Amino acid sequence: MSSILEPGQIEASAVMPPFLHLPPANLFALRAARLERLAEGNPLRRYLLLVARLCRIQQQLVDNPPSALPVAEDRQRLCISHGLPPLAADSLVREGAWLAWLQALLGHFDEPADSPLGTAVQLLRRSDDNQRKGWGIALLSGQYDAVPAALVPFMGAALQAAWSSWLLALPGTELKPAASLAQCPACGSPAMAGVVRNRGKHNGLRYLACSLCACEWHVVRVKCVYCESSKGLRYTTLDDDRHSPGKAPLRAECCPGCNSYLKQHYLENDAAAEPLADDLATLALDMCLDQEGFHRLAPNLMLAPGQG
Ligand code: FE
Ligand code: FE
Repeated sequence: MSSILEPGQIEASAVMPPFLHLPPANLFALRAARLERLAEGNPLRRYLLLVARLCRIQQQLVDNPPSALPVAEDRQRLCISHGLPPLAADSLVREGAWLAWLQALLGHFDEPADSPLGTAVQLLRRSDDNQRKGWGIALLSGQYDAVPAALVPFMGAALQAAWSSWLLALPGTELKPAASLAQCPACGSPAMAGVVRNRGKHNGLRYLACSLCACEWHVVRVKCVYCESSKGLRYTTLDDDRHSPGKAPLRAECCPGCNSYLKQHYLENDAAAEPLADDLATLALDMCLDQEGFHRLAPNLMLAPGQG
């Protein structure tokens, strides 16, 4: 066997973009810092600061995981060889290893029961594992109606921390693209937003960020991630005096074919942008697009739709 590459392979590897961009181990600390910065002057300040607090707890959980990777290595390999996500959210949420993460997260709160936050924490504390599992299943399948809105950020935080920790613990990450462009190759969850990266081998490429595990995967630019059409795509920004035209750090890719959109963060225009934090801080753009009749299919697990 020879390790010398054929000329064609060299060209292919030179132009083939890396499929994955994995989050750093301190992703939740970075997210918290970004949220704290964005909260200043934002009409949702108190809410963004609550999410920042949850992110700090998520980071502590990731630094001291309450449970190990719940998937044995042979099952991971089997999934990957069949092109299936090794951390499949729909089955793992039912198996329930993440419940230890929710329990650990609740241990970080000692709010008085008569405060709005205390009420949510109490409701979670009094629930049993069956109830918690039911809420987790509902949240990850997009059935927000089945989860009390005040509980969504707590549930989302526990689930995200567990899945991101497991993602970072996967021994090899030779993942294959999922069945649909907007689906995470690691856990099968829908994308939360797009990120056009600005550094090194990822420079200028679009990655989609997973709403659950924060894995990012490559998808070519100027293509609707839902219906795969490139026709008539429109890029909508929020009017903002701070940025000159064409330098907007956030644009929504709007598809007239399927009437849906996906927010996209341009790191060359704001290198500190963070998909989840910047998504929550720009809900005004979602409201504008909703009024125009565009649908949002990308979940943000820290927010029940309609609660902004
Ligand atoms: Fe994922
Ligand atoms: Fe489309």
